[in-house]
Amino acid sequence: MIAALLLLARVGWGAPPASPTLPLPSAITVATARGETIIPVTLDWEAGPVVPAGTLVTALNGALRADQAWLEVVLARQSFRFLLGAPLLAFNERIQPLAGWAFQARDSLFLPLQFVTEILPEVLAERYEWDPTRYRLREIGPPVASLPAPRPAPAAPSRLPNGLLPGHVVTVDAGHGGRDPGNPGVFFPRGMTEKDVTLQVALLLRDELKQRGVKVVMTRTTDTLISLLDRAGYCTTECDLFVSLHVDALDARARRRFGDISGFHTIIIGEENTEDADRIAAMENDALRFEENSRHGTNDLDFILRNLQMNEYLRESARAAELVQDRLDDVHTGDNRGVKQSNRLAVLNTARRPAILVEMGFATNPGDARLMSNRKSQQALATSVADAIVAYLLEYERKTGIPTVGSGR
Ligand SMILES: [Zn+2]
Repeated sequence: MIAALLLLARVGWGAPPASPTLPLPSAITVATARGETIIPVTLDWEAGPVVPAGTLVTALNGALRADQAWLEVVLARQSFRFLLGAPLLAFNERIQPLAGWAFQARDSLFLPLQFVTEILPEVLAERYEWDPTRYRLREIGPPVASLPAPRPAPAAPSRLPNGLLPGHVVTVDAGHGGRDPGNPGVFFPRGMTEKDVTLQVALLLRDELKQRGVKVVMTRTTDTLISLLDRAGYCTTECDLFVSLHVDALDARARRRFGDISGFHTIIIGEENTEDADRIAAMENDALRFEENSRHGTNDLDFILRNLQMNEYLRESARAAELVQDRLDDVHTGDNRGVKQSNRLAVLNTARRPAILVEMGFATNPGDARLMSNRKSQQALATSVADAIVAYLLEYERKTGIPTVGSGR
């Protein structure tokens, strides 16, 4: 027998697909009342194992339609729409991820083998049976005429003017609040502390994000204290990013350096724990001492810090942080202090989604303090962070295979 693991030459290179758990068959059999068809399996370097769509659909007496972005397969009156070149399948008005993807090579269309081995036998179990030992798909069940009528195919989701898909959610966290003032705001106007500035910028950021079509969840909108350990939890599974806003400050004992140290940095979970990152972690975790009446205590903090369940979105958090630093650099008068990692920051350690903490500037630096307390420059800071978040979400959409407007796909 000839091993027919043919490698299709295609334009562009990428990482090879994860190797399937079962040995890859060189061909599969489709068995129906009309006869048997042997269908070759091809391993594509990028898209994974695929079968020729035309042969499969003919064998199953279905229909095949391709438009610019989608390949639609109609079987047993059900519509399956594959996004070409991206691992996504639209079925029953839902979009679900795939291990590989459909594509066109020269005049032929190919479908992921997964469609035959997993999807058809699962979603149309009354009609198709997959035998993994014999690599055989069997058509069973009633004649097509007695099957339920198909649901209408979902319309392709329309995009916002900035190219984003609607439906993104970002959690904005204004640091501190209530009886926790945050840092005293040495060079802020009289009576203004960190908690006021974080709330003012957070509310502006909320408005900027809403204008960009992003839904916003706020941890607080008033001068109230939210437990440090509860904040990241506002960013639930449907939330794309947790953004915590803070104001940095040097210790009063470092007074002589107040004029020299300025600028903004963004902290993400990681293990670098530089001196600067540790300083910030100690300063921000200190907020927990205002919570003696809450259901959390210092024991909880110890627990959170000892039992860090590593956040699985390190790369996403790092990219969001980079973009925030880039955009803030355009409007900030202080130094760009870069992205820093800490696994000792309680508010980030409780995050289970991509998460960043932005230290917008030093209240102990006169220039930074002016920038952060002035309404107009607060607006500029909020606009920059909002732009960075939109850039991050566009990249994220592109990476997950959903083409964005203007990306040329
Ligand atoms: Zn703070």
